[in-house]
Amino acid sequence: MKRLVISRGNVFANLLIIGEAPGAQEDLEGEPYVGKSGKLLNELLIKAGIDFQKDVYFCNVIKCRPPNNRKPTNKEIIIHKPWILQQIKLVDPKFIVLTGSTAMRTILGINDPISKLRGQWFRKDGREIITIFHPSYLLRFPSKTVGKPYDLTFKDLKNVSSKLYAL
Ligand code: URA
Repeated sequence: MKRLVISRGNVFANLLIIGEAPGAQEDLEGEPYVGKSGKLLNELLIKAGIDFQKDVYFCNVIKCRPPNNRKPTNKEIIIHKPWILQQIKLVDPKFIVLTGSTAMRTILGINDPISKLRGQWFRKDGREIITIFHPSYLLRFPSKTVGKPYDLTFKDLKNVSSKLYAL
């Protein structure tokens, strides 16, 4: 672990995207979602019509890279949680996209499988929150066939895009 990775994007954005933790590339560059997963996420955002340079703020639940890319422990999540809650308050987005189970568990307190909950909107503290597959999952299962994770994630982000630009 080299450094803290806090955020990337527009701090005044209406859309906040929350990941799990920095990977090797994020640790090098000091910004979230700049590695392979980030490139795939950017590609999907563009396809869904979301201008990620202008309309998105990216951050992670965990601010420093867990050794060997392991999953963050519960203790690490508890230690870092006040920080992400403060970021949500400060950015004050209308919409939050949770990528993967760590973000879903931390923010919504739900442990169900992503495959069951992705694409569903939740309302919390006046914000609308949706969970999508983690992009690293899409890298492992890259099929773009209709109904597969990549296609479902694209549809979820189209859904986010239509709400975001209807504001
Ligand atoms: N990069 C991040 O910044 N977060 C993730 O969850 C995965 C890759």
